[in-house]
Amino acid sequence: MKITDVKVVLIPYPGASPAFKWREGLNVNNGFGSSPAGTAGYLLIETDEGFTGIAAVGNGVILEDYVNRRLRQMLLGKDPLDREYFYEQIWEIDRIERFPAWMLGIVDVALWDIAGKQANLPIYKLMGGYRESIPAYASTATYETIEEFLDVADKVQALGYKSIKLHAWGDAKKDAELSLALRAHVGDEMPLMYDGSAGFDLMDAVYLGDALTEANYLWYEEPMREFSVTAYKWLGERVKIPLLLGEVAEGAHFAAGDFLATGVASALRTSTGLRGGFTGAMRIAHLADAYHLRAEVHGGGLTAAHLCMAIKNTTAYESFISSTAIDRPEARFVEIDSDGMVHAPKGVGVGYEEEWKLFGLPEQLAKHITL
Ligand SMILES: [Mg+2]
Repeated sequence: MKITDVKVVLIPYPGASPAFKWREGLNVNNGFGSSPAGTAGYLLIETDEGFTGIAAVGNGVILEDYVNRRLRQMLLGKDPLDREYFYEQIWEIDRIERFPAWMLGIVDVALWDIAGKQANLPIYKLMGGYRESIPAYASTATYETIEEFLDVADKVQALGYKSIKLHAWGDAKKDAELSLALRAHVGDEMPLMYDGSAGFDLMDAVYLGDALTEANYLWYEEPMREFSVTAYKWLGERVKIPLLLGEVAEGAHFAAGDFLATGVASALRTSTGLRGGFTGAMRIAHLADAYHLRAEVHGGGLTAAHLCMAIKNTTAYESFISSTAIDRPEARFVEIDSDGMVHAPKGVGVGYEEEWKLFGLPEQLAKHITL
């Protein structure tokens, strides 16, 4: 099989609706941290056997520039099944272009999509299926008050969710208070997690980590920027709570190695979006497995669902709750059942086509893709 064309289809993105907040410092678009209106895109890799590999991106303009200047040339005429070769090539080009993290995995996702279509299998089966369903946890946005968080906790439990992860204000004292209040509200049994989105320095990270230990949280995720493994080592020496690390550390799976070697990470983060596609994500999963560590999948959507079904050492799917009215932006792509479970994607490849069959093909794609 040979790659015959590489296209980028741009699609206007109206912005997150409703807009939502993250911690204080991340709210920069009229006070919101969610994505503003812009131009999304799809990467289409076409082949001489009629299979088109598809990958979706949030920033189509940047993708188009890279495809025009670098990636089309890299891909044309080559075998799309040589994913390991292309994965290496992407890192080589990264050395001169310094890609945004999401660029590392886009080509890889589209190439896996081709392989899935050729094999007539969903990607998780092609990678090697481990399970057919997994519990989802409710992953909050940042709401205004403790009462709103507790109200969301009640609502998501009624929907079947069995665990909750907080994204809070990024104020160590207030977030500690919220974490304790949530534990008191839901009782002792429910697994709770906290994600700091890199909002703290070491002293505040220790203060909050002690509160999370007291409230018996399951994990403490990314409290500081992931630039310094040493800073995390110092945090790990000062708090008891397990640290979940490596969601965004520069270098993807290469960086994951140091978080393991220093013993600071109790579990690693992995994803297609920030860790180099399915290929990079599975490298991290297997690396973690060698040390009996979990590789928990970051973010929701179709690619995350495939990873959740293929990675043995993962425990839950991240289901984002963007509003106190329980808007779930990714539930359109990956359904959560009334028992809080996510089931394996049904389509071949990534399965974007299944979604378009239900909700319609964007008009910009209609001349490139037949359902
Ligand atoms: Mg996170």
